[in-house]
Amino acid sequence: MNFLGMDFIISSIIWLILVFGFMFTFRKKIFSFYYKQNDMELFVNNLQKTLQKIYPKLKFDFSFLEKLENEPNPQAKQYALIDNIINQYTTKDLVIKSTPIVPTKELWSSYVLNSKPISKKLPEDWLKRKAIIFQRDDKSCQKCSKVIDIKNSDIYMIKSLNDSGQYYLENLTLLCLDCFKIENLKRDESKTIKYLDIKDELYSLVK
Ligand SMILES: [Zn+2]
Repeated sequence: MNFLGMDFIISSIIWLILVFGFMFTFRKKIFSFYYKQNDMELFVNNLQKTLQKIYPKLKFDFSFLEKLENEPNPQAKQYALIDNIINQYTTKDLVIKSTPIVPTKELWSSYVLNSKPISKKLPEDWLKRKAIIFQRDDKSCQKCSKVIDIKNSDIYMIKSLNDSGQYYLENLTLLCLDCFKIENLKRDESKTIKYLDIKDELYSLVK
C-alpha cells in the first residue's frame, strides 16, 4: 500500500510537471486573447510615450482605437493606429503666437536692404538669418515642438513671397522638415510629400 502510494505521488508530480510545462511553453497560444490584448496595450503605451517625448506640446486623439476592435491582425491594428496619428499630425494647424523681436544691436548694416525680396532669390545673408532664427526659436519646431538640429530645420515665411512677405526676422519662423513640407503643400498643392520623418519614428515601434 505504502509503495503504491509513493508511486501515485511520484506519477502525479510528473504529470503536474508535464501539464504545467506544456501550459507554460504554449501560454501565448492558450491565452492568446490575453497576450494580444496585453501586447496592444504595451504598444499604445509606448506610442503615447514616444509622441509625448518627440512632440511634447501636441495632443493626439486615440479614439480611433475603438474602430479597430474587430481587427484580428495585431500588426495591421498597430499600423492603422499609427496612420491615423500621422494623419492628425499632418492636418494640425500652424499656430504662431508671436515671433520675439531680435534686438536692433544684433542686426547689421545691410539688414533692411536685404530684407526686401529681389526676384525671389534668397538674400545673401540668408544663413545668418537662419542661424539667428534657430537660436531665437529655441532650436525647436514652432509648429510641432520637436527639438531639431539646424541641418534638420528650415525657415518658413509666415507671409509668403507671393503674398508680399519679406525676409524681416519677424516674418520668419523655424520649422522641422516634416512641418515645413506639410505647410508648403498647403500653399502649393502641386507639391507632393514623398517622405516624412514621423513615419519612420512611429513605424519602428510596431512589433
Ligand atoms: Zn514640426
